[in-house]
Formats: sequence, C-alpha cells, structure tokens
Amino acid sequence: MSLPEYKIYAIKYGERVGTRGQTFVGGDPHDAPLPMDYFVWAICNGEEATVVDVGFGREEGEKRGRTFLRCPSEGLKLIGIEPQAVRNVIITHMHYDHAGNLELFPNARFHIQDTEMAYVTGRAMTHKRLRHSFALPDVLQMVSLVYGDRVEFHDGEDELLPGVRVHPVPGHSRGLQSLTVNTARGTVVVASDAAHYYESFLDEIAFSTHEDMYKMLEGYRRIRKLAPDDDHIVPGHDPLVLKKYPAPSPDLEGIVARVDVAPVS
Ligand SMILES: [Zn+2]
Repeated sequence: MSLPEYKIYAIKYGERVGTRGQTFVGGDPHDAPLPMDYFVWAICNGEEATVVDVGFGREEGEKRGRTFLRCPSEGLKLIGIEPQAVRNVIITHMHYDHAGNLELFPNARFHIQDTEMAYVTGRAMTHKRLRHSFALPDVLQMVSLVYGDRVEFHDGEDELLPGVRVHPVPGHSRGLQSLTVNTARGTVVVASDAAHYYESFLDEIAFSTHEDMYKMLEGYRRIRKLAPDDDHIVPGHDPLVLKKYPAPSPDLEGIVARVDVAPVS
C-alpha cells in the first residue's frame, strides 16, 4: 500500500537577533549578528492537520527578549487550520519556544517522548543551567494533560500516522524528537532543534544550548541519514527556510513556507 503524501508548512511566529558567539559553541572570531526565526509546523493531508510544536506566548517570549510577531494559533489560521479542530500535536521537546501554548489546542492529544517527560520532571531540572530553557507553567500544564488522558507517549521511533514517524534525536534536549514525513518528493525530515540552522548539520557546529554535546553532534548525522539528501532537511530556526521554500500564496511571503516541495534556491 502506498503511503499518503503530506504537505508541510513552516509558520514563523517570532524572531530575534543574537550573535554567532552566543549561539554556537566556540563562537566566531568576528562574532557577527545571527538572526533566528521561531516556527511551528503543520503536516496536512487534505483532511486534517497535525501540528508540530506550539511556540511561545507573548509574555514568555518577551521576557526572554524575543520578538513575538503573531500567536502561533493565528499563524495556523492563515493557512486555514483552526486550532480547535486539531486532534494531534507533536511536541518535539519541552523548551519554552516549542511548548508554550498547549492550552490553545483544547481537543488535541499531545505526542511526546517518554524520556523528555522524565527529563523535565526529574533530577536534571535541579540544575539551573539545564532548566533555563524550560518554562515551569508549560511543564505543569503537560503534567495536567497527562492526568487528563491527553498525552500519548512514545518510546523511541514510532509511527504516528501512515507516513509520519517520530525519531529520537537527543542532545539539545534529552527527549528531543524529529519527524520524517512522506511527501510527493519523498521523505522530508522536520528536524526541529536536532538542527537549528543548515550550517549546524552541514558543518557540525555545536549549538550553545544542549544537555549532551556528543549526542547532539551524533544527531546531525542521524537526521542526514533519515533524509534522502540535505535538501530534504528542514532545520528548526533558520531564517533561510523562508527564503529557500515558496510561500503558499504571495500574501504569506516571509511568514509561511511550503517545505514539502523542492527548494527554490
Ligand atoms: Zn527551539
């Protein structure tokens, strides 16, 4: 039986300008500015949309000096996705910029790796340096969702829908998962933070935030193995994504990109 072919959208909801020195381990002698985009993603088969990550809310983002451009739910509405209608949300990891708006999806089940939930509720969070990237209200809310029967746990690689699979790629966070999605041009890897930038995996540059540097570096190789080639990998925070892929309509230029199709540049 052939697998369904999905459309995948990257939807930008926030941005910041950091420096290469802050962003990458080892920095950069020239320490140039480095812009970062914040995305959520949607995987659509014509009948229903599966959402990947939920972004941060205005308050948490601005507290951390990020620019909040639009609520991720408003971004989804721009491509016709009503958050109330969403039945499945994949949480790649619990960092504040990926898990901050769980309440906006009242009818969804949330998919997360066992290891990520254990990580954010366990001993590791006694280290300020490690818990810095998480927001306590998000973690508490996820615990509430567990008790409300709205969380589906995955232990390693798993199939969520025909042609949509999750793959653990730990390192940046302990239970981080990337996705492979079947599309008309083959398998596309929605890497999320398994690679923040194209150069992260192309040049194996370590991102400053990580639990395990070795696993993060191995993760760059892992996503390249999962993809037919590097042009089938969608990194989690690279502004190039909106430049490489076409917008679904001219009015969404700079906001939404169709990342299941061939890059235009
Ligand atoms: Zn992130």
